[in-house]
Amino acid sequence: MTSTPGPHTASHAHDARQAVAAVAPREPLLVALDFDGVCAPLVDDPADSRMLPGTRRALQGLAAAGVHVALVSGRGLASLREVARPEPGWLLVGGHGAEPGDGDGVVLGGEAQELLDRLARELGSVVEEHPGAAVEHKPSSVVLHVRRAPGEHGAAATDRVLTGAATWSGVHVKRGHDVVELAVLEADKGRALTTLRQQTGASSVLYVGDDVTDEDAFAVLDADGGDVGVKVGPGDTAATHRVGTPQDVTDLLQALLDARHAVRDG
Ligand SMILES: [Mg+2]
Repeated sequence: MTSTPGPHTASHAHDARQAVAAVAPREPLLVALDFDGVCAPLVDDPADSRMLPGTRRALQGLAAAGVHVALVSGRGLASLREVARPEPGWLLVGGHGAEPGDGDGVVLGGEAQELLDRLARELGSVVEEHPGAAVEHKPSSVVLHVRRAPGEHGAAATDRVLTGAATWSGVHVKRGHDVVELAVLEADKGRALTTLRQQTGASSVLYVGDDVTDEDAFAVLDADGGDVGVKVGPGDTAATHRVGTPQDVTDLLQALLDARHAVRDG
């Protein structure tokens, strides 16, 4: 069966390699990636997440070849730095854009801080009642993690948050793999990517992401203008291309680097 790549029929890995080869000569070129599930395989403990060595080598090579490299994560900036161990010159964005790497960190107004404290108390009581569920505190959000909660506890904890605190006024909800994030600032990866494009003056952008929150970034890409969006793993997506795993991302970045070198040497 053949199909035209569209919102819900992202094409396959081979096409993704062709697409990145096509953007290789563009200047300036921005390669922006989500971290977890893209640069690093998903793991039970987020603190154990590490970039695949091949992906690091490819990104180092791309940066040396004049490509802007950016990591765009839902993690807080400090957590992203800790697990990603970025090379000098890489751009970092945390908190889905709430924490740009060149900023002064998050400064919350009194009302936002009060709301954040209230959310923290509420999620604290949720995880007390549901073994295995955990709460993560970020500068402008709190996150419920249920990856290590047994099935019914995870579902019940998620349900209680979605029908409770998630509905409070001023709360911005993001859902991901086994997580619900409640933020008191409005930020998304689409805005973050647009800012990175402006900062770098990029004429083409390659964005790679695996999660629901990456869809905001895919949505601001301009395929006709030479941008490429690559979704990692299954699920509906606005990305034009798809690969299966973080290991495939390594191959894709290496293909981009090879094509970049071929342009230079050709
Ligand atoms: Mg991810």
